[in-house]
Amino acid sequence: MHRKLVVGNWKMNGNLHQLGEIAAIAKAARKAAGVDVALCPPFTLIAPAVARSNGLAIGAQDVHAAEEGAHTGSVSAAMLKEAHARLVIVGHSERRAENHETDADVRAKADTALRHGLQAIVCVGESETDRAARDHVAVVTGQLKGSLPEDAHEGELVVAYEPIWAIGTGNVATPDDVAEMHAAIRAALVERFGERGGRIRILYGGSVKADNAAAIFAVEDVDGALVGGASLTAAQFVPIIQAAAG
Ligand code: PEP
Repeated sequence: MHRKLVVGNWKMNGNLHQLGEIAAIAKAARKAAGVDVALCPPFTLIAPAVARSNGLAIGAQDVHAAEEGAHTGSVSAAMLKEAHARLVIVGHSERRAENHETDADVRAKADTALRHGLQAIVCVGESETDRAARDHVAVVTGQLKGSLPEDAHEGELVVAYEPIWAIGTGNVATPDDVAEMHAAIRAALVERFGERGGRIRILYGGSVKADNAAAIFAVEDVDGALVGGASLTAAQFVPIIQAAAG
């Protein structure tokens, strides 16, 4: 049983007018004992969000693997640190699909993030086709093999299991589906990192909402959630934080 972590992913949503939502989420997060909360707005909102965060951890949704240089449109780990980001999501399925990111790319980003003292949330997840073919466990453990950083302390690394068919669709995975995959991920982490692998947090992501969060958090080896749509407003996100607090 680990202390749960609930992370909001705002994707390409959010502008300065929504900083009030971040302040409200931060206020609720402070009151919810026993749960860690973080929010990953777009790059442009990281610094202003930190200013309103009241201690809430603010992170990014991507980072470039290189230290600096000719990478138009990208943001480095040092830049994120300068903006006081504390964590970064790497390998989200939308980036794997839209930006053709491979497992090796994701691993390089995770290595860079950890080297700079950013907590890295490594995302994995199968497609609907993989699941229909009963290949889902093999696909996800294969992604983990390729995407996990070389080495990691349990506080620095988090894995997020996000079945692609559940993201933004309202089709949340069943507790049995989640239990099967989280057990497989736990076994892979222990095989890779030994005893430390037992302490790395595994989040579930995919249409988590206030009304299904408690059932998901009750599943063995679910150490929290990565939340997209329902993290955009305090009204929807705070009940999920409270469900994680128990
Ligand atoms: C996500 O994109 O990480 C996600 C889980 O989205 P949603 O909660 O909207 O399905």
